[in-house]
Amino acid sequence: METCIFCKIIREEIPCHKIYEDKDSLAFLDIKPHALGHTVVIPKNHVETVFELSEWEAQELMIDVITVMNRIKTVLAPDGFNVGWNHHPAGGQVVPHLHFHIFPRYEGDGGGSMHSIIKSPGEKSVTEIAALFQK
Ligand code: AMP
Ligand code: ZN
Repeated sequence: METCIFCKIIREEIPCHKIYEDKDSLAFLDIKPHALGHTVVIPKNHVETVFELSEWEAQELMIDVITVMNRIKTVLAPDGFNVGWNHHPAGGQVVPHLHFHIFPRYEGDGGGSMHSIIKSPGEKSVTEIAALFQK
């Protein structure tokens, strides 16, 4: 049995503020919100990253993320969203159970865009990087 904290939430061993659930996914409010209505959406199957999802599971999860965004839109009426996931510790992942973060955004909330996550483009030019993909 998985000991991960999100699996414990799925098994209801730890409480959460659930806002959506179906047979494959669960969405609940983040316990340390970075935005009003900050929500995490998780697959019920324990996987660490998207690479372990089947094509079908990935499709279902994406549909569920959009369903949850719509629910947040109805209830909280944000002006926008940032949606994404932290992949591996280098990408900021702390809980090793795949989860999408949904940050509802509001005009004047002081937050940034995806571009504010990192500004470290490295030494190689864009052309040099592009060449690596041609090999
Ligand atoms: P990450 O850095 O992408 O792994 O983010 C993990 C997220 O899970 C953080 O935003 C935490 O605040 C959130 N989190 C951890 N434990 C809980 C919990 N018991 N209930 C709700 N959210 C949690
Ligand atoms: Zn888990």
